[in-house]
Amino acid sequence: MSEFWNKKINEIEPYVAGEQPKKGEKVIKLNTNENPFPPTPMARVILRTCDVAELRLYPNANSQDLLEAVAEKEGVKPTQVFAGNGSDEVLALCFQTFFEKEHDTALPVLVPEFSYSFYPVFAKFYDIRTLKIPLKEDLKLDPEDYVNTPNCGIVIANPNAPTSRSISIEDIKRICQGNADSVVLIDEAYAAFSDPYETAVSLLSECPNLVVVRTCSKSHSLAGLRVGYAIASEELIEGLYRAKDSFNSYPVDRLAQMIAAAAIKDAAYNKKCIDQIIATRKYTEDELKKIGFSMPKSSANFVFAKPPAGIDAETLYKNLRSKGILVRYFKTAGINDRLRITIGSQEDMEKFIAAVKEEVSNAKDS
Ligand code: PMP
Repeated sequence: MSEFWNKKINEIEPYVAGEQPKKGEKVIKLNTNENPFPPTPMARVILRTCDVAELRLYPNANSQDLLEAVAEKEGVKPTQVFAGNGSDEVLALCFQTFFEKEHDTALPVLVPEFSYSFYPVFAKFYDIRTLKIPLKEDLKLDPEDYVNTPNCGIVIANPNAPTSRSISIEDIKRICQGNADSVVLIDEAYAAFSDPYETAVSLLSECPNLVVVRTCSKSHSLAGLRVGYAIASEELIEGLYRAKDSFNSYPVDRLAQMIAAAAIKDAAYNKKCIDQIIATRKYTEDELKKIGFSMPKSSANFVFAKPPAGIDAETLYKNLRSKGILVRYFKTAGINDRLRITIGSQEDMEKFIAAVKEEVSNAKDS
């Protein structure tokens, strides 16, 4: 609290990101859904050969080359793409652009009860009401709940985080078509890891109220670069430019624009990394199940696993932490009996499984 802060800053409860290890601390980091592989080799080439003198100039305000790379890959027009400083920024601008401000008669934005915990923070920050829609058994999302509830917008992460579950493209279509007057925001931060791969981008021609948000952080191993983007109709994208140009004209720096565009163009390298993560995810799920964990089938680069009876999730989280293995634990009632475990390299997951086995056998002995 500070008398120098305004009321909102005094009252807001900011989003808390996963723990970052201290400089030099050696850990196996499975807590923020980063990609274990390095980014495209082209990133190094760009950094070695770029003209540093050009950094005195502002970057392209809209990240034109990046928009073109995304448009080409997704089969849309560059004017249907909007880039920002990480998808968190793109999501924040979507909240400001598409959703009603809080007042007595305003309808809420619908969000799943357990989802990316930044959504309610954005909403609070911009005075937007939210309504949390309960998930069904085993954290399943029922699309019907989103068709029959009055709202001024809908935000769904697909696959959802931290549940790792996905809904079908048909379900998303039903939600969009059942809410023709609202914007439906589908956050595809983890869609690249779905198997078979599915994206709501395929619905854009039929659903003018759909916005798909993506990030280069997870799928393209560029969490440190901060690049995300939205894909939607030209009309919706134009709204995002109005918001951006009232906030920060140059959200994506020169290097980030070049490297993100190169990463998106390098589809072969990207596929190789994603295939490996999907294979390691299968290994992790199988091994955890053998030890007695249960979890929904994951469509993301993490699993959301419930330890076997007698093993407390929070204790396991702390014990793994003391062994230098970071996973994510949420204290929130309803999901505080699980751990969210990022899929790292095969080697790291083998070490993780060995550590979990040791913990489970210690707990049984005691
Ligand atoms: N959406 C979801 C569902 C996420 O889990 C994250 C990562 N925390 C983001 C968006 C934001 O990713 P970034 O800002 O790195 O693009």
